[in-house]
Amino acid sequence: MQEGCDKFCTFCVVPYTRGAELSRPVKSVLGEIESLAEAGVREVTLIGQNVNAYHGKGPDACAWSLARLLERVGRVPGIERLRYTTSHPRDMDDDLIAAHRDLPKLMPQLHLPVQSGSDRILAAMNRRHTRADYLRVIERLRHACPALALTSDFIVGFPGETEEDFAATLSLVSEIGFSGAFSFKYSPRPGTPGAEMPEQIDEVVKSERLRRLQRAIDAGQAAFNSSCLGRTFDVLFERPGRHAGQLVGRSPYLQPVQATAPQSLIGDIAAVTITEIGSNSLFGALTDDASPAAAPRPVEVALATGA
Ligand code: SF4
Repeated sequence: MQEGCDKFCTFCVVPYTRGAELSRPVKSVLGEIESLAEAGVREVTLIGQNVNAYHGKGPDACAWSLARLLERVGRVPGIERLRYTTSHPRDMDDDLIAAHRDLPKLMPQLHLPVQSGSDRILAAMNRRHTRADYLRVIERLRHACPALALTSDFIVGFPGETEEDFAATLSLVSEIGFSGAFSFKYSPRPGTPGAEMPEQIDEVVKSERLRRLQRAIDAGQAAFNSSCLGRTFDVLFERPGRHAGQLVGRSPYLQPVQATAPQSLIGDIAAVTITEIGSNSLFGALTDDASPAAAPRPVEVALATGA
């Protein structure tokens, strides 16, 4: 639905390889989603390299924001669940934050990359936001949707990252309490400003920091999963589980959920009460009133022109 990026983070090749931000027109996006819904799809994820910069031309000839598009997609008959990814903190505008309060079909889970908790490194990365800016956005999102769970991306060992900078990243992880995150060692990409920066960090140091960060992220994820024990979620069942009679689906937070359920529930949403927390999955039991909705399947819809 959206492709390219105008942000020019100094570690990233996207602005060079994919070019400037382009957004598919609303009519094209809606046409695809209406067809998908008619085919039985009930969950869509609107995708783009910087999806919340979406500005596709609407039927009124105006540029529509992602918030406006989400609201419209939510009115497509049959669509029950909405997600979008990946977003930039600077493009979380008022309307998009309000969408997390106002659109019940927008799932309470958001992937919002921050990359570092250090202002010095955020500036070197040209992220165009500070740690405080990010925290403010999170606070507003949580105010709009108290059930929201957040995931993020982190890069460790960006050129010039000191132990103090890295400690700021660790403290941000514990301050926010992410439900999960992707973390990577910085890897210089030819043609990007970061690759030319002095003070490249030793691989041994990067590996050691990555291990510490991943321990912190894993602890946050385990805490979030534990908090799900005893809760009842709508689970979208996707496929048979490892054991006979078991199905695997996704919670609103995208966690894999395994439950004993009839095969006929594949493609359906049913209420599941979480009874056990595993290392990679949640386990649950269908609630008594688990009545299937009609045939949902998750699908990604690209927001870029021509995508
Ligand atoms: S906002 Fe994302 S896609 Fe754009 S330059 Fe930064 S990291 Fe790359």
